[in-house]
Amino acid sequence: AKNSGKDTHALFEHSMNAQATERLEMEAMLRRAVASDQMRVYYQPIIDLETKQIRKFEALVRWQHPTLGLVPPLKFIPLAEETGVIGPLGDWVMREACRQCRAWQIASPEQEELSIAVNLSARQLQLPGLAHQVAQILSETGLSANHLELEITESVMMGDPDAAIRTLQELKSLGVHIAVDDFGTGYSSMQYLSRFPIDTLKIDRYFIQKMVEPEGFAIVHAIVDLSKSLHLRVVSEGIETEEQLSMLQLLDCNFGQGYLISAPVPAANAESLLAFPSSG
Ligand code: C2E
Ligand code: CA
Ligand code: CA
Ligand code: CA
Repeated sequence: AKNSGKDTHALFEHSMNAQATERLEMEAMLRRAVASDQMRVYYQPIIDLETKQIRKFEALVRWQHPTLGLVPPLKFIPLAEETGVIGPLGDWVMREACRQCRAWQIASPEQEELSIAVNLSARQLQLPGLAHQVAQILSETGLSANHLELEITESVMMGDPDAAIRTLQELKSLGVHIAVDDFGTGYSSMQYLSRFPIDTLKIDRYFIQKMVEPEGFAIVHAIVDLSKSLHLRVVSEGIETEEQLSMLQLLDCNFGQGYLISAPVPAANAESLLAFPSSG
């Protein structure tokens, strides 16, 4: 019994080292993955709920690992954020998504106004020169700024909100749109609304799932009305049932996204959702 404390300690030390090593290995693997073309962008349509037309795609990254298969972002984005790999990774996603959106615009005259939404982590917003980098990507890919929307979460409030606001203002002055993702789940949402230069609110799917209950319905109703009074566009995410869809149409929510419409898909499949003349 006297030794057990020491043993436990040794074991703990060992596992801490193992964890640290594993993390370093994971980080190196992640860096290599970005550099060696193992990342993929999937696209999920965002439709106008009135016309059912696709107006935007949200770009969602996946890691096509040679042996593990398709790794979802929640398995590696947090590590990418902690290690700084999010810099090159986020850059790659944005360039790829902008390039793809521009290619779709060019492929069909009906898609001239198609937009792309790209997720931006709080950490990326803190990296120096973000607006410059975005401007660079836009000019490289030929996408106009007003067809790019950057989705941020309320976690950007947690670091240095003044610095975040300055960066967002730089992005806005390029003509890029800003959306607040997962609206309602973070903290100080109201402060966010009054201080940040935003264009769009995305209602978190948690509330959409709760819409069948009167309280859930009331909350979504209130967020849609709030968006309208603030002249913001509003997107409902995580629409899974016809019932949710018709309730949102009743509330006059502008845009919708979710498995009922389509899951995120590879670029080739997204193309058939756009129903290009060539694809029938
Ligand atoms: P998010 O930005 O809130 O993206 C929406 C997530 O909900 C996506 O998960 C999407 O596949 C999923 N989803 C869409 N419709 C439905 C639905 O009807 N029901 C349900 N249950 N889920 C739905 P995904 O692709 O696994 O991405 C998870 C999160 O990873 C994203 O959440 C985003 O925070 C982050 N992420 C993804 N790609 C990127 C990226 O390129 N950069 C950064 N910084 N974060 C990313
Ligand atoms: Ca998002
Ligand atoms: Ca979201
Ligand atoms: Ca989310």
